[in-house]
Amino acid sequence: MPFSSLGLRAGLLEAVRDLDYQTPTPIQAEAIPLALAGRDLVGCAQTGTGKTAAFILPLLQRLQGRKGIAALVVTPTRELARQIEEVARSCARHTKQRVTAVYGGVGYQPQVQALRRGVNVLVATPGRLLDLHSHGDVDLSQVEVLVLDEADRMLDMGFWPDVRRIIGLLPADRQNMLFSATLSPQVMRVADPILRNPARVDVAPSATPVDTVTQTVYPVNSFQKTDLLIRLLETKSLDRVLVFTRTKHRADRVCRHLADKGIRGAAIHSNRTQSQRQAALDGFKRGHCRVLVATDIVARGIDVDGISHVVNYDLPSNPDDYIHRIGRTARAGADGTALSFMAAEETKDLREIEVLLGQTLECRDLEGFAYLERVVPNPERTATRKPRAVYGGRGRRRSGGASTRRPRSGASWGS
Ligand code: AMP
Repeated sequence: MPFSSLGLRAGLLEAVRDLDYQTPTPIQAEAIPLALAGRDLVGCAQTGTGKTAAFILPLLQRLQGRKGIAALVVTPTRELARQIEEVARSCARHTKQRVTAVYGGVGYQPQVQALRRGVNVLVATPGRLLDLHSHGDVDLSQVEVLVLDEADRMLDMGFWPDVRRIIGLLPADRQNMLFSATLSPQVMRVADPILRNPARVDVAPSATPVDTVTQTVYPVNSFQKTDLLIRLLETKSLDRVLVFTRTKHRADRVCRHLADKGIRGAAIHSNRTQSQRQAALDGFKRGHCRVLVATDIVARGIDVDGISHVVNYDLPSNPDDYIHRIGRTARAGADGTALSFMAAEETKDLREIEVLLGQTLECRDLEGFAYLERVVPNPERTATRKPRAVYGGRGRRRSGGASTRRPRSGASWGS
């Protein structure tokens, strides 16, 4: 299906051509006609599926000619706000609509000045938006379309009270679109009072980025994780690697150890200033550093093309984060690889991830790596099978029932 059949105006189609989008992604094909018709939407889609253009293009079309802030996109992190701003600006380049993002961690006054110059589409993180509103620096009385992006993450991060306050500042008569990587009962409960008879758009399991990710688990003692990472980086063709750690401190430490071995890496987490984060991200995007080490909160939604490998240095304790993490690789249909380090104390985390995926992941050893006094997994689990791609959507909790089988309890550990 070509973009031209979705009902978008010429200026927007031109922007799509400039962006070199050849055909709509599944969520775009589904969501754009519905959103153009003014429907409320609830969308289950991860970053990497093209969901930003799926909501930006129709709102730009519907709000043509409006004065003031006609569309508000609320998103959990600064990085996402900047990314959405960038996509929205590209999509709006042949329209007269102005796009701005406001978020914390950077100067307040420049954002006030940008708002004063006139904005039609405002992308915002909740805290800064409420700040601006409480000082009378932003007028939300003209908002006709509200987009809540990464709703599950806003819930996880405790932003929902702020989101509710923001919604209370908007005109009641508006179109609402809510996107979330997982539509858990908790998300649906908070979404319900906001949405009016929403159409649901899901990215079919076969189209999720997770489809093409090969996943392997490396059982390793905690104290050898850094050596294993270095060894992998030295011996395998890992070109552009996103490494996830559980804490900021661990992210910094991994970076230091990589630097000791002459491997260029950068850390990105919430203790770093906005400009440090941006510099790290830019360096990674431009290929100046090969490894980006991140914690979940800031990494979520980072849009970097060509990430060849995601390494879970630590397994996430929230299994949904695993899906988000591995979704950073294999974007736009490319193949990708996710390597997960698992220490004995993370066995339970792996089991929960497998329940969410509905399948057992392959465990293997890195050939030639000197495992010291390693606790080993039950041989039943160590794979002789090849790693295989899985469907992110298959066996998810929300589908309930039979597909959420528990994998074999296999991973019993001993020294
Ligand atoms: P998103 O899920 O909105 O973060 O988008 C993920 C990536 O896919 C971004 O780099 C977009 O520029 C890209 N993208 C979005 N829509 C398309 C499309 N129709 N064709 C090719 N790439 C796209």
